[in-house]
Amino acid sequence: MRANSFVFAICGLAIVLAAPAFGQRAGGAPSQNPTGDPTKVLVGRLDLERYKATIKGLTQFGDRQQGTDRNRRAVDWIEAQLRSYGCATERLNYTYDVARPPAQPGSRTVPTATIVGTEIRSGLGGSRLRGVTLPTIPNNDPDAQSDAALRTLNAQPPTPGPREEVYCTKVGTAHPDEMYIVAAHMDGRGFGEAADDDGSGTALVMELARVFSGSDVQTERSIRFALWNNEETGLNGARAYVEQRAPLQGKEDRPGSGRYPEPKWLGMIQHDMMLWDHGMPRPDGTVSPEQRPEADVNIEFQASAKFADQAMRLAFFFRDANEKYAADYPAAVGNHMSNTDSSNFMDLVPAISLRENERGMQIGAGWNPHYHQATDRYAAYSDKDFRLGLNAAQTSLAAIAQLAGASVRK
Ligand SMILES: [Zn+2]
Repeated sequence: MRANSFVFAICGLAIVLAAPAFGQRAGGAPSQNPTGDPTKVLVGRLDLERYKATIKGLTQFGDRQQGTDRNRRAVDWIEAQLRSYGCATERLNYTYDVARPPAQPGSRTVPTATIVGTEIRSGLGGSRLRGVTLPTIPNNDPDAQSDAALRTLNAQPPTPGPREEVYCTKVGTAHPDEMYIVAAHMDGRGFGEAADDDGSGTALVMELARVFSGSDVQTERSIRFALWNNEETGLNGARAYVEQRAPLQGKEDRPGSGRYPEPKWLGMIQHDMMLWDHGMPRPDGTVSPEQRPEADVNIEFQASAKFADQAMRLAFFFRDANEKYAADYPAAVGNHMSNTDSSNFMDLVPAISLRENERGMQIGAGWNPHYHQATDRYAAYSDKDFRLGLNAAQTSLAAIAQLAGASVRK
């Protein structure tokens, strides 16, 4: 059923794109885009400095570890930003009762490079590790943070109990009962600033919420912008959302009201770690300090998912949107999506994930030295890094604008 509606959305898109007067489809008004392509107009409303400022804003709450005051303050701040954009917010409540995981020694001070030989060494999600790999042990030691002020900010340990996460929704004009979910996780770990993981994805989603909430922007279908909590403890926040809200899909609030608290899911797109693509570690365990010129946005689906075929088509639709609308960096598609909030959705709807690198073969092989470390700080990234995240934002915005049937009023 949901597969069919996705096919319908794609087919509908093809028809819409082929129609000469795209803007006329929304509400029968005269053409609302006489000067051209609404997707291009909307992509033009993203910019590097705004994206960086939103990431910087998130880093004021340290690593935003779940179950702490700094995490709760970050949820409040995100909600205030979304509201200021004109995007109506709601919160999901759930309980996370697992005690703090035991502290492990081993902030990764001396990485040991391993050169993988010709044998097949498997990684997460069905991937295969190749070349030089480094361990990816998360930092669980607060004292690994050398900045005293940040160490103080990150001092409070998490406690089990009630949790909240925020989302906001752009309501579709023609199909308010159907939606795409555009998401990232706002919690982090490692006792740094969680700037890349996942300030970069959270800021991307917030920027898309800002652009789509523009008072002159209409979409035929709804879009929900979700900032999951508790990803780092095992995808718990997104799982709570699926458990509570999947059964509500497509149900009208009151018959005839035209309001759908949970529109039917057409697809789920997660954004997690969007900045760093510096290539494979060197044999001595160091990593290039520069973004590699071949850097790309990695779009992944999971080949074993129930909706793998539809997710693959969605992934290539995003790649195509990248080719048409992203400014600097290309996108590549992979089939080993893993360890991401989209995993909770992939057997229910087409679900994909966008990242700086493939999760299994590259991040899982230690390509990002800041991953879950105290060094994941805003200052660790250059404009070339931030620009990769911006290109991912351009890619997702362009794809969703087309899928949701966006138009811009003159
Ligand atoms: Zn992450």
